Amino acid sequence: MKIFLRIVLGILSWQAVLGWLWPLFLMAIYAAHKPRFVEGCLAVDWRPWVTTPREFLHRINWPAGMYTRSELSGKWIRVAHKSVATARPWTGLSLTIGWGFVLNPRAGRRVLRHELVHTRQHSDYALAANIYSSAAAAVHQDPWIYLGLALTWPLLILPNFINAVLRGGRFNLDSEHERSARAQTDIIGGESWEQVEARRIR
Ligand SMILES: [Zn+2]
Repeated sequence: MKIFLRIVLGILSWQAVLGWLWPLFLMAIYAAHKPRFVEGCLAVDWRPWVTTPREFLHRINWPAGMYTRSELSGKWIRVAHKSVATARPWTGLSLTIGWGFVLNPRAGRRVLRHELVHTRQHSDYALAANIYSSAAAAVHQDPWIYLGLALTWPLLILPNFINAVLRGGRFNLDSEHERSARAQTDIIGGESWEQVEARRIR
């Protein structure tokens, strides 16, 4: 029954299921690896050169960035492993589009659960887009209107960002979809809301 419902969900929000494609694309361009299905969604990890470029270069003994000129002696000295790896602009980057997401390799279970919340939100947007595009196609008697409008589903996230700013908040961190994902999966007092809820309905 559960798998049947998931298939129905996948059909009703088929655009979100297309989200499987972009992790595959990241793998094809050697930016991600370790594909696995989690609750029907395709998860991959960024490859190390994306998240920790300097550390990765160091590991493969690439000379760039491994040496620095000493301020005291003026000589070139070898930089310790840890300090080479300090600049990691992408270290926190985990991202979801539809039913596909890419994780920082250092991300733990909490981030995985967080991105899964976003995949569910994307199913909601896709279903909403299917409802209004079906209605518009029926009114205009034109199936192409359905296809054109159905693919506008990612735009449904924009009002969340706009309203977050209009409420005086931050673009992403104070959007309601982000607050929802954090509230459900961040560990507070030893447990996340999701874990407490799962225990309650068991
Ligand atoms: Zn998020």
